[in-house]
Amino acid sequence: MIRSDIRKMRSYSVPEHQGLIKLDAMENPYLLPEALQQDLATHLSKVAINRYPDSSMLSLREQIAKRDGVNANQILLGNGSDELIQLLLLSAESGTCVVPSPTFVMYKLITKWLQRQISEVPLAKDFSLNAKDVLHVCVREKASIVFLACPNNPTGNLWDQDEVTKIAKNFGGLVVIDEAYLPFSDHQFLDLISHNVIISRTFSKMGMAGLRLGYLIADPSIIDHLNKIRMPYNINVLTQAAASFLLKHSDVFDAQIKDICENREKVFQSLHQLTNIDVYPSKSNFLTFRCPDANATFETLKSNGLLIKNLHGSHPSLKNCLRVTIGTNDENDYFLQLLTEATPA
Ligand SMILES: *Cc1c(COP(=O)(O)O)cnc(C)c1O
Repeated sequence: MIRSDIRKMRSYSVPEHQGLIKLDAMENPYLLPEALQQDLATHLSKVAINRYPDSSMLSLREQIAKRDGVNANQILLGNGSDELIQLLLLSAESGTCVVPSPTFVMYKLITKWLQRQISEVPLAKDFSLNAKDVLHVCVREKASIVFLACPNNPTGNLWDQDEVTKIAKNFGGLVVIDEAYLPFSDHQFLDLISHNVIISRTFSKMGMAGLRLGYLIADPSIIDHLNKIRMPYNINVLTQAAASFLLKHSDVFDAQIKDICENREKVFQSLHQLTNIDVYPSKSNFLTFRCPDANATFETLKSNGLLIKNLHGSHPSLKNCLRVTIGTNDENDYFLQLLTEATPA
């Protein structure tokens, strides 16, 4: 009844986190100010939940397009960027999906669900990207789509603009530049958009992870084609209403993001000073670092009520690596205190 490859798969596991401080999933640690919470509640209470959502979502697309300096016909909204990755892999011509490695796991998972081929191109030891390597594999494997997370997850770094540009300009298939961490980065690749180059963005990491709203920016003809295979009501009414409302208050998020970026630098400096820790530069809202025994450190932190992400075992180049999301000041201090105790010099 069920495909044999699916029988052999394991489901995407989200760790149990009840009672734990959650620094594992790149969430914004701050709630909305209380007055804004109230206003949002009032706004949402008036939403017609008895009606299907607006399927074309033109006004929300216009709002997002204006914010990003593009046209509404270049925007496609998705139930998180995960849904958009799936749409892109559904629509790409037959051919291999090429990704640098390690990178965001959903590219590979969804490729497998759709029974497509995947080819992974190892990043350098410092997690930098070599365009020549990627382009070489694209030709050899007859690729039809490439995903480039800029900045990359789980490494946190932003790849050299010239390398990303080389791939965008020289590969003829779909090039998806995933800017999930754009709010924390200092470079956007919007200028690279072309008949085959697509940008993916999301409101998750900037503070609306619970809403599930991501979007593509692309050539209008690509958006037209993708719209044909989009579920008609993929964004629910509450998400549409909440996002539209909250984007009118983006100064609140801007201030939170500024704070997160400042705290990222502070935590980076603290980690950098620990002799047993190698921390990687980050343009995202998390830091990836290597320690002597990642499993032991992860468990020590967890038993003290702090959940981070253990990357050890997920990829050869992530041996003994851990990933911590930037939290509130108190959370970051607690993390640094526990880590210092867990990895004595
Ligand atoms: C978190 C993440 C996403 C997923 O974003 P959603 O909009 O929440 O689905 C996409 N790409 C990268 C690189 C991520 O790290």
